[in-house]
Amino acid sequence: MIERDPLQRVLYIDLSKRRFWVKYRPDLFEKYIGGAGVASALLHEECPKGTDPLGPDNPIIFAVGPLVGLFPMASKTVAMFKSPHTGNLGESHAGGRSAVSIRMAGYGAIVIKGTSNIPIYLSIFNDKVQFHDARAIWGMRSHVVGRVIREREKGTGIRSIMRIGTAGEKKVSYACVVTETYRHFGRLGLGAVFGSKKLKAIIIGGKRSLPVTDKKRYKEAYDEVFKRILETPSLKKYHDLGTSLNVLPLNKKKALPTRNLEQACFEHAEKISGEHLAQHFLGRRLACAHCPIACIHLAALRTPYEDEPYFYKTTFISYDYELIYALGSMLGIGDPEGMLHLLDTVEYIGVDALSAGVTLAWTTEAYERGLISEKETLGLKPSWGDYKTYQAMLERIVTQPNDFYKALAKGAEYAAEIYGGKDFALTFGKNEMPGYHTGYGGHLTFLTGARHSHLDSAGYSYDQKLRPEELTPENLAQKLFNEECYRQIISSLVICFFARSVYDYPTIARLLSIAGFEFSEEDLKLLGKRILRQKYNFKYREGFSLDNLRIPKRILETISPHGQLKEDFFRKAIAVYKSLLTSD
Ligand code: SF4
Repeated sequence: MIERDPLQRVLYIDLSKRRFWVKYRPDLFEKYIGGAGVASALLHEECPKGTDPLGPDNPIIFAVGPLVGLFPMASKTVAMFKSPHTGNLGESHAGGRSAVSIRMAGYGAIVIKGTSNIPIYLSIFNDKVQFHDARAIWGMRSHVVGRVIREREKGTGIRSIMRIGTAGEKKVSYACVVTETYRHFGRLGLGAVFGSKKLKAIIIGGKRSLPVTDKKRYKEAYDEVFKRILETPSLKKYHDLGTSLNVLPLNKKKALPTRNLEQACFEHAEKISGEHLAQHFLGRRLACAHCPIACIHLAALRTPYEDEPYFYKTTFISYDYELIYALGSMLGIGDPEGMLHLLDTVEYIGVDALSAGVTLAWTTEAYERGLISEKETLGLKPSWGDYKTYQAMLERIVTQPNDFYKALAKGAEYAAEIYGGKDFALTFGKNEMPGYHTGYGGHLTFLTGARHSHLDSAGYSYDQKLRPEELTPENLAQKLFNEECYRQIISSLVICFFARSVYDYPTIARLLSIAGFEFSEEDLKLLGKRILRQKYNFKYREGFSLDNLRIPKRILETISPHGQLKEDFFRKAIAVYKSLLTSD
């Protein structure tokens, strides 16, 4: 490792005492590289067993990696914390300018603990950390907060603003943190942890230079990686349509969860597809810092002013496959304008779109079945496709005017515990389901992935590429385990998962050496396993177990592209996955 690389610096911030200090931690970065590896090690150090996720001892940890700022698509920041949504590992990744800003400010990781007695926001510019009174912006919606802070904190260099909306302030357990308006630390409730600490926002930036071991080798490697990225056909597709290109193929396969997965095929899929949105609404494409792909798609939604026929308010709303599934097909919304309005509500109150959509889908079915009534909903009548009622419900999930909305603010599993309907509460490890009813692989990823996210081991892709005879519990569990171990390395370097075909093990080892780290391919493979086990140790320490995972009955009822799924297959595969986690 390069002597005194700023990456070794960990910034510690105590909100209760308004103090900060920096420690050099080469021990962490030499062992775990950065990102998910370093963050999970810090989580073990900083989060005492049994910590209240909404208490002062729960740390917020941000970590970046050695390739950030040096190589394209090393653009993500990992956030780690104890999740208020699941009660165990909280891990969320976001791009935007966050990673490059943290690296340029001169840090490899940031640990925030304590609780402020009044709402505050933090500004971090190089070595200067300031605590600002945020009472005037507490209660503001996420996009307004970004604007206000940008105005107040003039400065140069790359800056990132991470902030919460009203849902985070009210500790909705699936509140998110918004960064650069269109990127999110979406899953597992980081926004609620910010809110519990009365931390409204963080602005960070700096102007450090980043060291490399050999400038000539660096330039050659950079050009090669950049060229490979531009020549990868799947990445070109992400530029054209974004992940929303998946809507129509998944619908055709009958794998698109629709109306709380009562069906897996949506009759209005075409109208909410990437193709339709690009043709009729696409206003701009954006990229995370240091990414040539620009997969972020923004719809321009024009809303006419009353009594002013030729005047429109234009709102830019980001969309991708997961949002379209959760707030479109899953809620039976086939009107693209209605869906975009709902996406906008989710963005400005600041909640995880997947958890919000799946929780509203459970609510609709529970209402249809008479488990809840207008007494609980306070007069609202949720029904498939009615986006205006869903918008009103989301506002109430934030304000929590009665016990029912307080329950919805803790997600579908919690609400189903109280009101019934667990068979159709689509949560895995208490986290709401991503948009893939592709077969065993997809659901096994949601069950066994350390974050219960489709991104953990991408089982949905194995459902689509393995031959039927390869789909055995043993084979699938082994493939998911290997994939999840490899993804620990990618997320320790904090490379966007879309670039994983470019960043294979030999390329990673070579680039790390240019950045001053020596890891062989074999070292990287072993490290991936070690990081995954480290995360699982934390989960088990906080009460999670693979032995008593709930498998929602609904996924066994609705026919998948691989036919009717059997619980027995899932249990066998989970047992194999568990043995891989614990064996050498
Ligand atoms: S491909 Fe998309 S998500 Fe990934 S770094 Fe580029 S813009 Fe960000």
